[in-house]
Amino acid sequence: MCLFCKISNHKIPSNTVLENDEFIAFHDINPKAPVHILVIPKTHVESFNDVDSNIMAKMTLFIHEVVNEMNLKDSGYRVITNVGDDGGQEVKHLHFHILGGAKLAWTHLSDTDPKVFL
Ligand code: AMP
Repeated sequence: MCLFCKISNHKIPSNTVLENDEFIAFHDINPKAPVHILVIPKTHVESFNDVDSNIMAKMTLFIHEVVNEMNLKDSGYRVITNVGDDGGQEVKHLHFHILGGAKLAWTHLSDTDPKVFL
């Protein structure tokens, strides 16, 4: 069972923000912003590559609930999902990062200068 399946099954603890039968939102253990929440489906889906539109439709509504719960709607926030090696995905269970609580930087997205690829 993967790390995030263990969290969704309550086999390991998390700092939960919201939960229903299909999704759970919890604080990232290593926050990159004042607010850093992870949203996952309870069903194991490896990444955004594998998610179907039915789950995504419901997940969108759940993410909106989390955004409201954390009072981020008006101030703004960022939603990110990392996919695969180039995307920097460490945990192979689909998760959306919700980052907010401050004006977020938009720094270089690769260790290599992007101009190298042009
Ligand atoms: P990613 O690099 O997109 O796969 O993101 C994985 C995220 O999971 C990272 O931001 C980690 O800090 C976070 N993380 C890893 N283990 C835990 C945990 N036990 N509880 C909460 N967040 C975690």
